[in-house]
Amino acid sequence: MKTHPLYLNGEFVTPGDSRPVLDPATGQAFAHMSVCGRETVAAAITAAHAAFATWRTVTGRTRGDYLLKIAVEVERRRDEIARVITAENGKPLAQSQGEVAMSVDHLRWFAEEARRGYGRIIPPQVEGKRHLVIKTPLGVVAAISPWNFPLVLAVRKIAPALAAGCTVVLKPASATPVCAALFAECVHAAGLPPGVFQLVAGPAAAIGAEFLENPRCRKITFTGSTAVGRTLITGAAAQVKPLSLELGGHSPVLVFDDADFARALEGTLIAKFRNSGQSCIAANRIYVQRGIAARFIPALVERVQHLKVGPGLEPGVEIGPLINAAAVDAALHHLANAQALGARLRCGGQRLGTPDSAFLAPTVLTDVPGAALGMCDETFAPVAYVNIFDTEAEAIARANDTTYGLAAYVFTRDLDRAFRLMETLEAGMIGINDGVPTTSNAPFGGVKQSGWGRELGIEGMDAFLETKHASLVIA
Ligand code: NAP
Repeated sequence: MKTHPLYLNGEFVTPGDSRPVLDPATGQAFAHMSVCGRETVAAAITAAHAAFATWRTVTGRTRGDYLLKIAVEVERRRDEIARVITAENGKPLAQSQGEVAMSVDHLRWFAEEARRGYGRIIPPQVEGKRHLVIKTPLGVVAAISPWNFPLVLAVRKIAPALAAGCTVVLKPASATPVCAALFAECVHAAGLPPGVFQLVAGPAAAIGAEFLENPRCRKITFTGSTAVGRTLITGAAAQVKPLSLELGGHSPVLVFDDADFARALEGTLIAKFRNSGQSCIAANRIYVQRGIAARFIPALVERVQHLKVGPGLEPGVEIGPLINAAAVDAALHHLANAQALGARLRCGGQRLGTPDSAFLAPTVLTDVPGAALGMCDETFAPVAYVNIFDTEAEAIARANDTTYGLAAYVFTRDLDRAFRLMETLEAGMIGINDGVPTTSNAPFGGVKQSGWGRELGIEGMDAFLETKHASLVIA
């Protein structure tokens, strides 16, 4: 069984200590990942700081060329990388292939954006002065990524940071480090200078503490839970260290009477069940207007009952295992709580296979009281909570009744309503008749407790640039 190395200052390093990486479909190890302690992370930051001195002076065009080379390498190895994502995360292979394709698209997008770190010239208010706004790279960036989209969410940080002229130290999630190790091989093959991109792995709190306390680390970009995000906010206070935070969500779906029925059904299914419901933008609460509910809810239950569950490598599988058996326990706890409060179980609701398996039957609950745990906290699982509403005003109020604000989905054919909702729903991303709104060229991120800042789009690179004003007095 292979032990994957760290990638430090241009070299693959196997420090000796390693951790098994488990396949959630079997609970068995399929690889090992090298791990390191805080001193190694400190050394990586020192190397990244040294590399920054040169990388920041490389033209955007050349940095873009490097990103394109990485994209070509990831694309060349796409099947192998997709299989690794399925092995460590569990998602169906087709979804892993989609994740690799989107990662390549992100690399290509930021390869182009690398040329566009534009500033501006401001007309003077006082004769004889000139005002210039210039953008300069922040410096060493620490990237922390989660397990649910282990490749694409890391790339969403690395590509814009490198494009901006920053150097990057990545810490992937402990459950899914192997695709990051393969990505490091792609970076190496693309010939990036040593120290520009590095991969560390190991105990999260220790690595996080080094990122927070090392003054050479100039920014932390994090995707993960709101709880860990809060820890980083507290830790960042001492050095007033900038953070980009992509945190948890609790996305509502609003299906109006006038919706295109088929599009609403397909859109709801994908918004809820993609990646077995383990997506930050997953639909956590589905609200259906009364006039369409009698048709829509049974159709949804029917489709969910027939979703194919199994190991991600099996052909035709639509729902893989959750990340581990504990994730099933957590979902069952939410289900039991909702049912105890009066929710109606319409399908699913039980663990599949052995008592310690990570498979959960895709589930639909209706008549779910607002007090149920899953109506406030993320149920990171293939569990749909469905309720009925009457008016648009009620739908907006219920959709916004959450501390989160990542995504929201609306199914309607009324253009006026679509505009009203895009303006009033408290979410960073709104899918109108679209269950998959994410794209490389548009900003991704949340409002309220779903985070700070935006990834992707033109905003994505800006997160790694300082804005400076130079005022010149000329003769
Ligand atoms: P998590 O437990 O917060 O972990 C995310 C990352 O943070 C992992 O690499 C983890 O390392 C690391 N980490 C944990 N404790 C840390 C600490 N004290 N200091 C520094 N790093 C630390 O989240 P998760 O369970 O992996 O991911 C699921 C959550 O992410 C959900 O809430 C989901 O909504 C959210 N998410 C948000 C977005 C978005 O774009 N807004 C996208 C995807 C997921 P270890 O793995 O080693 O513990």
